[in-house]
Amino acid sequence: MTALAQRSLSAPGLDVEKVRKDFPILGQEVRGKPLVYLDSAATSQKPRAVIDAVARYYLQDNANVHRGVHLLSERATKEYEGAREKVRRFINAARAEEIIFVRGTTEAINLVAQTYGRTRVRAGDEVLITEMEHHSDIVPWQLLCEEKGAVLRVAPIDDDGQLLVDELQRMLGPRTRLLALAHVSNTLGTINPARRIVEIAHRQGIPVLLDGAQAAPHFPIDVRALDCDFYAFSGHKLFGPTGIGVLYGRSELLEEMPPWQGGGDMISSVTFEKTTWNKLPHKFEAGTPDIAGAIGLGAAIDYVGALGFAAIAAHEHDLLTYATEAVREVPGLRLIGTAKEKASVLSFVLGDVHPHDVGTILDQEGIAIRTGHHCTQPLMRRLGVPATARASFAFYNLRSDVDALVAGLHKVQEIFR
Ligand code: PLP
Repeated sequence: MTALAQRSLSAPGLDVEKVRKDFPILGQEVRGKPLVYLDSAATSQKPRAVIDAVARYYLQDNANVHRGVHLLSERATKEYEGAREKVRRFINAARAEEIIFVRGTTEAINLVAQTYGRTRVRAGDEVLITEMEHHSDIVPWQLLCEEKGAVLRVAPIDDDGQLLVDELQRMLGPRTRLLALAHVSNTLGTINPARRIVEIAHRQGIPVLLDGAQAAPHFPIDVRALDCDFYAFSGHKLFGPTGIGVLYGRSELLEEMPPWQGGGDMISSVTFEKTTWNKLPHKFEAGTPDIAGAIGLGAAIDYVGALGFAAIAAHEHDLLTYATEAVREVPGLRLIGTAKEKASVLSFVLGDVHPHDVGTILDQEGIAIRTGHHCTQPLMRRLGVPATARASFAFYNLRSDVDALVAGLHKVQEIFR
């Protein structure tokens, strides 16, 4: 470990070596080398506290929620609804019924498109997104616009990967029914000025959905300060289980939106002639939910809360700065995404070497990165690259992980020289 790497262990407020002990998976060797996990933007690793919470639920409390009169069902319901309250506090929503448990960001956005979108968007109306969106914030709107004869418009970015907010503002108009954009870009790391953008859209009475998949793991989210109408994020990127995520919606909007999926739990009464809906949030949670997932997500929120976002952000900022400097030494490396405000994502291309080759060679060194289009094909086209290699950091990464990455990249260069 270099002296510089050593110093990072004492980044303010976070004892990273101690934190890493909470993540059993990080202690292993892969391909005969210590694992260097730099793919947290794809999915994060889970602390023991989350794994234990899920196991405890299945070992002690497993029962269906909201239905049983027996004790296990009572306990399961209490834990599930307790997790909802933890999410409410985590994003500072006004009410727990504004928190809808879904499978993840993708399902949250589809829910809004299929309920809010289908009732509000008509032929000739517009939905505005941006050039940096993940496919899950493109395709649901495309499906909706196709069905309704509406128009999907796309706000541009500059070559550094920053949103052109003035252009976006010009594209909002009387036909715009919704603005949907990433809070943080998964490919570029760009942090969009969400509060300012919401304000601009609201001046014209246009609601805003924020895709917070890459924001929630890195800094505190306050939906009331953001003043957004919808906010979506995934548990698995926030150190929680897969299969669980959150849609926050302003209660006035959720109240008037029709349900999406029909089934158990989302009804108030059913006859063959007519069904009436349950109250929020249950109207949007048809069928047995991912109870263990929600409980695991609650445990992840507790875990992150105990570390504190101030310490997390300081450490990740240190890692990003260190990594951005360090990779400059690698000949032929070009960073993709150089916005002023960035989360800890480092996308790059390495001369003519295909990113998949970069990823495969790094894998031989025990280093896990992501390569490809990162579910942002239109963004790749805009940037004129077919794919990138992407290293993404979480609070459990060390400067020595960056050093391993740089050493691996030099190896790639040697092989392709
Ligand atoms: N939005 C962004 C910005 C993402 O990075 C991702 C996942 O990579 C998603 C949406 C989709 O998240 P999920 O696959 O968890 O639904």
